Amino acid sequence: MQKIDIKSLDLKELTEVMSNMGQKAFRAKQMYDWMHVKLVPGFEDMTNLSKEFREKCNENFEYTTLETVRVQESKLDGTKKFLFALRDGNVVESVWMRYKHGNSVCISSQVGCRMGCKFCASTLDGLERNLTPAEMLDQIYSITRSTGERVSNVVVMGTGEPMDNYDNLLKFLRLLTDENGLNISQRNVTVSTCGIVPRMRQLADEHLQITLALSLHATTDEKRRNIMPIANSYSIDELMDVCRYYFDRTGRRITFEYSLVGGVNDTDEDAEELIALAKPLCCHINLIPVNPIKERDYVQSNADRIQRFKNILEKNKINCTIRREMGRDIDGACGQLRRSYKLEEKGRA
Ligand code: SAH
Repeated sequence: MQKIDIKSLDLKELTEVMSNMGQKAFRAKQMYDWMHVKLVPGFEDMTNLSKEFREKCNENFEYTTLETVRVQESKLDGTKKFLFALRDGNVVESVWMRYKHGNSVCISSQVGCRMGCKFCASTLDGLERNLTPAEMLDQIYSITRSTGERVSNVVVMGTGEPMDNYDNLLKFLRLLTDENGLNISQRNVTVSTCGIVPRMRQLADEHLQITLALSLHATTDEKRRNIMPIANSYSIDELMDVCRYYFDRTGRRITFEYSLVGGVNDTDEDAEELIALAKPLCCHINLIPVNPIKERDYVQSNADRIQRFKNILEKNKINCTIRREMGRDIDGACGQLRRSYKLEEKGRA
């Protein structure tokens, strides 16, 4: 029989499970606190539970933990990149960044990815499996324990397409922002998607106050299809409609992510087309100088081009930032650390 993944249960579900074991409601609250506030790595650390009960828990439940395989720290800005091993031996990566306004963690939502974006390293070997809510939380919990500092912002922008793992993502978001748990403000959580329209619509209806970021990267369907296979399923018109719907339902301003790729999507004309899309939505634009991966020959736009692109947007009163390249010296781009580790492993085998 498969054991219950206890850290993926919300307090209501945990209370029910405890009650089935003949435990009172306060026991669930106690355990929830150990798992999601005190962030202990196992039942044995739950010192106010009897030894007998802890043993019973070990028999009945799976308590996920991550093993830290590698930590790389940037000498440039202190950014730390963690490579974690899951129970089944798969590895995922997460990034810790220190900003003026607090500490931010970027987590992975899947092992690998099946979206196939041409410039992205996470998708080169396809999708291995979805992460559970507990495994998404564990990345934040492990990093909090390791740095000894509170995490205030979470971005789901690591490996994987969060909307392709929708139910687990939603459970994770509810646990992460639960007042009985880490209680991270929903406004400090961002979920980034390549644009799976029906799931974006569903998310708009969940009564959450999180920020939705759309990886747009191109301004026409034709150009987008060249770099993002998902564009064959959903048009830019459909994307703009669902972004409007998200804003109307939640009042939260959308972010467009736009990775600037030299000679692909960085002309003045691209900037003008981007303005036409962004203006009616009054969204924020995050320009990302593409981080070249060696398996593809995409190059970064040069610094002048990036600045000019930004100036054109700003002249037209579009709110935009160039993403600071954190951890450039430590396999910064999505999926690169995991990939270089996997290639090394293969080399050793
Ligand atoms: N699947 C989600 C989230 C993961 S990627 C999504 O597509 O949004 C997070 C962001 O980084 C996305 O905007 C993605 O397109 C971008 N990205 C991926 N690889 C990149 C690279 N090599 N250089 C710049 N941006 C990249």
